[in-house]
Amino acid sequence: MIATHNPGKLAEMRDLIAPNGIDVMSAGELGLPEPAETGTSFRDNARIKATIAANAARVAAFADDSGLVVDALGGAPGIHSARWAGETKDFAAAMQMIEDKLRASGSTDRRAHFVSALCVAWPDGHLEEFESQVNGLLVWPPRGTLGFGYDPTFQPDGHARTFGEMPSEEKHGLPPRGKGLSHRARAFVMLAKACL
Ligand code: IMP
Repeated sequence: MIATHNPGKLAEMRDLIAPNGIDVMSAGELGLPEPAETGTSFRDNARIKATIAANAARVAAFADDSGLVVDALGGAPGIHSARWAGETKDFAAAMQMIEDKLRASGSTDRRAHFVSALCVAWPDGHLEEFESQVNGLLVWPPRGTLGFGYDPTFQPDGHARTFGEMPSEEKHGLPPRGKGLSHRARAFVMLAKACL
């Protein structure tokens, strides 16, 4: 089970797991309630989502907690990345808010990174946890209509295009062609080595 209610993440997690020949359902599709993310770190929140889903569905559950960490904003929005888009999940407004705060800060430092913490929880209480990140720069205005969330504003280091301009295979950058590009794909490569 993929323990997410976020359609953008669900699509990516399905893409990542599909080559391993594992059938997955999602917590959102099964109508399981969305747990409150009460942790203080990405890792805590991934564990909360995975363990609640594993206990409810009695199958192994795979969760991601992720977000955008902006250096000049002291790490914001961080674990609050989804919440900055509000109830209507308006990421154009959330990207604008980051840009406004960067300008107000007077800093010229546009470095940021995405973090993904992955947790697989089994119904018997066993846990496997992995975390990775991808560093990059925030561009303005946002570019591209692919991906989800903050993708159009994030240009990974060593690339001329934003995640919003990359098809999903390129954003993942998975083996055998790459070593993993996105935070989620990099963490997934670690998970696949350990568990699959
Ligand atoms: P949560 O992990 O459900 O708390 O939500 C993480 C939020 O971080 C998402 O809703 C997105 O706004 C943002 N985020 C995480 N990963 C990505 C990504 O790969 N691209 C763009 N935004 C992301």
